[in-house]
Amino acid sequence: MPPASSSATTGDDSSIRDSGDACPGALRLHPADDGALARIRIPAGVLTADQALALADAAERLGDGRLDITSRGNIQLRGLGADRGAELAGLLTDTGLLPAPRHERIRNIVASPLSGLDAAHPGDGTDRTDVLPWVISLDRFLCDDATAPALSGRFLFAFDDGHQDVAALGADVTVWAGPDGQALIRLGDGPEAIRVAARDAARAALLAAEIFVEAAERSGTRAWRIRELTGSQLLFATSTTEFARRLEADGITAELLATAPSGPASAPQPGIVAGLDGRSALSVAAPLGRLTSGQWRLLAGAATRHGSGELRVTPWRGLVIPALPSAEAPGSLSGLAEAGLITTTASPWWGVGACTGLSGCAKSLTDVRTDAAGAAAAGHGGLPVHWSGCARRCGHPPGDRVDVVATPDGYDVSAPGSSGARGVPVTEIADTIAAARTPSVPQAKP
Ligand code: SF4
Repeated sequence: MPPASSSATTGDDSSIRDSGDACPGALRLHPADDGALARIRIPAGVLTADQALALADAAERLGDGRLDITSRGNIQLRGLGADRGAELAGLLTDTGLLPAPRHERIRNIVASPLSGLDAAHPGDGTDRTDVLPWVISLDRFLCDDATAPALSGRFLFAFDDGHQDVAALGADVTVWAGPDGQALIRLGDGPEAIRVAARDAARAALLAAEIFVEAAERSGTRAWRIRELTGSQLLFATSTTEFARRLEADGITAELLATAPSGPASAPQPGIVAGLDGRSALSVAAPLGRLTSGQWRLLAGAATRHGSGELRVTPWRGLVIPALPSAEAPGSLSGLAEAGLITTTASPWWGVGACTGLSGCAKSLTDVRTDAAGAAAAGHGGLPVHWSGCARRCGHPPGDRVDVVATPDGYDVSAPGSSGARGVPVTEIADTIAAARTPSVPQAKP
């Protein structure tokens, strides 16, 4: 990525923030109410079992012993002492989880968690291309690039292998594996796409980010995401014509497509996934996105003993363990269920999410996680539900769901197609949510 443009601002965008990007990272710890917080970026969510064990060590020795999975498939450690940053950095560097310091917060890359793992049947639409090699290339480009740190810690790349899963996460640059060795790329929420050869997918994604950096600088708004731009700079950052021109100038053949791929969003479900070559993958989720270090070690142990020694953290606050012998899969899954992980859509925890709430966030009006756990115990299925301790609704995922937001007067509950309820006391919240989770509109997957 060349140096960002020094063009003067156009003045057609009003300033959207006064300060720089304070997004937490592995080196920039965030002071939370329950201690310092570290966010460790995991491109495509892929970890070796050794790296996973190192994270468990870090959680136990430096933090509160728990590991949170974020809505981008990254890992957060909480409750760290403010003076433990150097120790954490050393541990992460030793395990290959920390690139050059200026780059560690920009490695926001999600990918289809089952890429290259599940059954492929040529001709029926499931003969997908594994996008993980593209992610590895983009991560290398980002980490080698002198000006890539101009991206914010929130700018998101998504690589979808055709499952149409991460493509629904509203990334700034979305790359699909197309048929016949091609990649399709969309900028922001634009309706169009660009087609390039698969071998050029990662380089093209980097160029798309370069165009955004230029637009953000010209706008003078300190925009972190493409969707924060307005006016001419939004048009510039999402222009497939401009994108194609840059690609051609870089020696990449590009073709304009009038419409980007689309289809119903499809997140991985918990359970056993039929894989290739007679092997299976396990898909599990963490209740409210949080695991103890003991549960985390169990997952790493299963990956080492029965799988390929790899784990994949998902943006749906879950994990995939690839390549188990199919005969081992049911026993391993049942062990993970006994340890408290979500292994079936019948779990009362499935589809339930919550922000940090008290006591980790000073803005929270109540302990939403405890209230969410109480309501989940009632076991009502239906629409997914997300709990927030205040109106900021951090980590709120896209898609149809029941929204439960704490207010000074109780909880506000809203759902697609319903008028909602305001100021619901916690004693009535389970029944109110149960009614809202029975949708009057077509149900979305969590
Ligand atoms: S939604 Fe509100 S309470 Fe929850 S983590 Fe965000 S700021 Fe804190």
